[in-house]
Amino acid sequence: MATMPVNKGFYVTSGFGPRWGTVHYGTDFGLDGGSGGHPVFAIKGGTVTAAGPASGFGQWVNVDHPASNGGGLSVYGHIIPEVSVGQAVAEGQRIGRINPDSNTNGGVAPHLHLEFHRYVWSPPGDDRLDPMKTVLDGASWPGESKPTGLTANALGELMGWALTESRYAELLPAYVKMLNIVGATSTNALAMIGAQLGHESVGLKYQEEIASGAAYEWRSDLGNTQAGDGVQFKGHGWIQVTGRANHTAVSKWAHAQGIVPTADYFVTNPKELGSDQYCWVGPAWYLTQARPGFLEAANRGDLESCTRMINGGLNGLADRRARYNRALAMGDRLKPIKETEGLFMSLSPERQEDLAQKIDRIHHELTHEFQSLVTDESGKQSTFRATMMGYVLQADRKLESMHQHILPGVLTAIQKLFKKGGTDAE
Ligand SMILES: [Zn+2]
Repeated sequence: MATMPVNKGFYVTSGFGPRWGTVHYGTDFGLDGGSGGHPVFAIKGGTVTAAGPASGFGQWVNVDHPASNGGGLSVYGHIIPEVSVGQAVAEGQRIGRINPDSNTNGGVAPHLHLEFHRYVWSPPGDDRLDPMKTVLDGASWPGESKPTGLTANALGELMGWALTESRYAELLPAYVKMLNIVGATSTNALAMIGAQLGHESVGLKYQEEIASGAAYEWRSDLGNTQAGDGVQFKGHGWIQVTGRANHTAVSKWAHAQGIVPTADYFVTNPKELGSDQYCWVGPAWYLTQARPGFLEAANRGDLESCTRMINGGLNGLADRRARYNRALAMGDRLKPIKETEGLFMSLSPERQEDLAQKIDRIHHELTHEFQSLVTDESGKQSTFRATMMGYVLQADRKLESMHQHILPGVLTAIQKLFKKGGTDAE
């Protein structure tokens, strides 16, 4: 999935391929009435690797795209950059504007020159691809048809694509459950949680600590009081809940929330805390119970305080900051999509009531009991009970009751008519 680098209305003024006896290694976009000053957008998410003066372009921007996002590098020439080197940008994010001044834009009529390089920046040659036939094939226009909210694609971007999009789709419901319990709704808080969990679990990849856990043996500060506790209670879940004491605490909390069936669930089943079903429980507990001040610090964007609450110190602060800034740029795409925004809620109240009644009737029809007597092999007859045969017999019984009650009545009425010779005016 990619986004066009210019707004709808622009068209290709000069395509990729042979031009004037040489090869044009990019695609030019122009607009009737002039392109100067119009915004330029990142075609995919990535990191800015160049922004400033470049021979022939006046100025340019390069964006490097992570391999898991399809990889490659995009080049935007003849523009005025609005981003800086090292900055994370989201797909469709504005990164500059077309330079209207031919004195400073490389001496061309104002337009955008877009290149797409296969891996990293490459000199003219086979590693420069035709954008329209590769990365922009099927692209949407900026601001168009891009689903808002936290989709699997957005979660992948938030987590730096450590896993495939289909894997993030599997993890998404659990991730949203965790966000709801933590109560994170602000962009700052959603970005902070994404950054911190992304760092701790390497993009949600590790649901269990990689090390054996032997180093935690007999660590009294973790409540490891029994032989084997170190390995058994090594880090589990996206936030690596570690030690017997923490596994005990998270179990009690999860049981009180109705999440697990027993109050010592993760003590007797520690690996479950790292399973797909429960990997979100650790962070939900930790960020609300163990570190109750986390949400407030996250809401005000206090990266250092949040890092200390999770790490104890400031280990990995640079990575956490890069993740946080990349997440902030995603804006509304961090926000969980509410189920109430689905099909049913889009209908009028009258239509919803109508549908609810119809569903009730269907439910009644499907669950209504049709009873019959059942005779077992010994010839013993049961009392009435619901059977499939009962359904058939109910239909049959209606016919039988017609024979028994209605038809005799009809016959009597006809006989009466004949006796009276049809003179009755009734
Ligand atoms: Zn060009």
